[in-house]
This record gives sequence, C-alpha cells and structure tokens, in this order.
Amino acid sequence: MDRYAVIGNPIAHSKSPWIHAAFARQTGQTLRYEALLAPLEGFADAVARFRAEGGRGLNVTVPFKLEAFALATQRTARAEAAGAVNTLAFGADGILGDNTDGAGLVRDLSVNLERSLGARRLLLLGAGGATRGALLPLLGQRPTALTIANRTASKAEALAHDFAPQAGDTCIDGCGFDDLGGRRFDVVINATSASLAGELPVLPPGLYAEGALAYDMMYGRGHTRFMQTALADGAADVADGLGMLVEQAAESFALWRGVRPDGAPVLAALRRLIEAG
Ligand code: NDP
Repeated sequence: MDRYAVIGNPIAHSKSPWIHAAFARQTGQTLRYEALLAPLEGFADAVARFRAEGGRGLNVTVPFKLEAFALATQRTARAEAAGAVNTLAFGADGILGDNTDGAGLVRDLSVNLERSLGARRLLLLGAGGATRGALLPLLGQRPTALTIANRTASKAEALAHDFAPQAGDTCIDGCGFDDLGGRRFDVVINATSASLAGELPVLPPGLYAEGALAYDMMYGRGHTRFMQTALADGAADVADGLGMLVEQAAESFALWRGVRPDGAPVLAALRRLIEAG
C-alpha cells in the first residue's frame, strides 16, 4: 500500500491523517497516511528513513518547512516564492518540494466562502512564513491592492518589495499596523501567530469596508478572538482557517495521486467533529 505521512514536532494533534483518510475514501484511492514525529535535530534522517521504507510523500509542518525546502531537489514556482515547503513527493529522480498553503487559502476563500478576490482590496496581517506562502497565489487572483501589515513594519515593507515584480496590476505595499488608519479593505486575513500567545494584532478601528470578510488562519471551536473582534469592528463576515487546512491537504493529495478531492464535504465533516469536541 502506498504510504504518506505528515511530519512535524509536535504532531500528535495533527488533523492531516483524518483529512487524508477522508480524501482516500472519497476518491476510492488505496493508501496509508500516518503522523510522524521527527526529533528537532533529526528531520532529514526521519525523511530518509520514511523514503527508504517505501514512503511516497510527506506533508511537512512546524518547525520543518524551511528544512524541507532545503531538502527538495526540485521545487515548484510557488514553493520558491514561499521560501518554504509543506509537501514533498518522492520520485525515482529526486524529491519534489511544493507549497500548497497559499493555494489552499485561495481555494477556501474563492470556492468554499464564494469570495471573489479579483478587483478587491486585500489586507494581510503578519509577515512570516504563512504570509510569504500566500502572496503569490493571492496576487494570481489579481486584486486591486494587496497590503501587508506587520508588527515589525520593516518585514512587511521588505516582503512587498520582494513581490513587487510579480504583482502585475496589483498595487502592493507593506507597512506597520498604525499606518492602516483611515484605510478600508474588502478582505482582511490574519496570518500572525499572535493568537498562539493569546494576543491579537493591535489594529486601528474601521478597517472593514462594507460587506468585508475577516479571515483568521487560526482555527478552533467557535469563533476565534480575531473573528469576534472583527465582527465588533464592522466585518460583515468571518471565517477561520480550517478550510485552508483542508484545501492545502487537497492540493497535496492531488499532487501525489493525480486526482483532486472535493474539500467541501470533508471540511463540513471535520467542522462537525471539532464543534462536537
Ligand atoms: P511565523 O512565526 O513565520 O510569523 C509570525 C508572524 O506573526 C510575524 O509576522 C509576527 O510579527 C506576527 N506576530 C507574532 N506575535 C504577534 C503579536 N502578539 N502581535 C502581532 N503580530 C504578531 O508564523 P507563520 O507565518 O508560519 O504562521 C502564522 C499563523 O498562521 C499561525 O497561527 C499558524 O498556525 C497559521 N497557519 C495556518 C494554516 C492553516 O492551514 N490554517 C497554515 C499555515 C499557518 P513580527 O515579525 O513583528 O514578529
């Protein structure tokens, strides 16, 4: 049986084995997908062992996405742009590295949440790996404007500068949170890790244009704090990042198996599972 896994540290609470088992059932594919804990200093060895045992591909999560990037012998354009790899595919002639996070985000926004991103004003909060991975796929939707705002403004400015050659007609800029005062956006995406410390990015009021969506890459039971705050500040709609998680998995599955699962029913089932506790 073809073997796949998600590799990370920690990994016990990963939902990926559940998601990929659901995809396999839905598409009639026969495969095994497990969770692999790699020692913090032992990522490359753990990958080599898995591959030697016949493993066909890996999802890579915290904290190994940069090491996975370095390990890949070939990389997709979106992985190059992200500077990080969350999907490895093992072939006879090497290791292909891909990054499906941004495509998963775009698919969740445009298909599951039915939000057109073209000709819209987008705001990305944060300038870390998740933002970097999202930029090329978001620019591919041809928004009018894409603003990156970060606690450390210089990192947002540097990212905007790096991606300007690929922005086409989109006006891309980077700034600090305070510089957002008086501006309005149609979609605001929280790609900071602030919630991991029980915090929120401190934003000026009134960022949400009429009908705007606030999207939190974090997820959990009920509304996240970012979603609650956004609703209080005038966002018309809110969503968390569970759909992004499912859709990035669907992209990886498609890369490995050549068939793209339908993420929506798997997302609905996973949501029920999480809400049931
Ligand atoms: P990084 O560590 O690379 O970046 C963290 C970012 O958050 C930085 O821009 C940092 O700002 C900012 N930040 C951290 N704490 C605060 C705070 N208290 N207030 C304001 N800004 C803060 O993380 P990633 O980019 O890899 O991940 C970001 C989030 O996205 C995580 O919560 C992760 O779980 C989520 N994610 C979700 C996915 C999904 O499938 N749903 C997929 C990938 C990521 P500074 O530069 O100033 O330090």
